[in-house]
Amino acid sequence: MEANKIRDRVLEVTSSGRYPNVPGPILDIGSGASPLLPGAVTVDRQDATVETGNLYQLPFADNSFAMVFSSHTLEDLEDTERALREWARLVKPGGAFVLYLPDKRWYPNIGHPLANLAHKHDWARQEFFELFQRTLPHFSIVLSEDRPPPGGIYDYENRGNIEYSFLHIAKKRTLAPEVTSGSCGRIDCSAPAVHKVWGTGMVYYSCESHVAEIQEKVDNE
Ligand SMILES: [Zn+2]
Repeated sequence: MEANKIRDRVLEVTSSGRYPNVPGPILDIGSGASPLLPGAVTVDRQDATVETGNLYQLPFADNSFAMVFSSHTLEDLEDTERALREWARLVKPGGAFVLYLPDKRWYPNIGHPLANLAHKHDWARQEFFELFQRTLPHFSIVLSEDRPPPGGIYDYENRGNIEYSFLHIAKKRTLAPEVTSGSCGRIDCSAPAVHKVWGTGMVYYSCESHVAEIQEKVDNE
């Protein structure tokens, strides 16, 4: 039930035509044999393709997936930044990085007698938002949503069937601080271009002052 709910929500958001806006396969990290999203490539710690269960080093080329999805796995890994950077590496520019994670406000945290012993981290949605942004500045966060249990109450006996999570969707962009020839991509600006802004299959140029504006335009395409 938890799985179905989130699958429907992820498909609803990502099939809006904006995310992912590049063609390509979907990777589901930590899914076991049953991917949540139809047709996804799966990888898990027990997977033969993953050397000794190493989710920090996945056997795929850079920029090879339109969407990288993971549900309730990242919190079990010690080095969050390393895992995030590795998984983000696999997302194509314009593609989506989708994380569905337990929110510490709604379940027994590390140290609690009923805590999940696999957990290495507890995050509230906002804490994770900041960690993600700091670790992956070349991603734009497009959705950060609370997925609390009904009434905000964690049900110990029924926890497989309820949500106690948040949903985080980010889109990959790439900002390369390269000096380019030519001028800013904004029509009324003739300042020299100093940034490249990667859209979907297109590169835009920007002066020093208009990079955020041009990035936003590209993100909303
Ligand atoms: Zn400009």
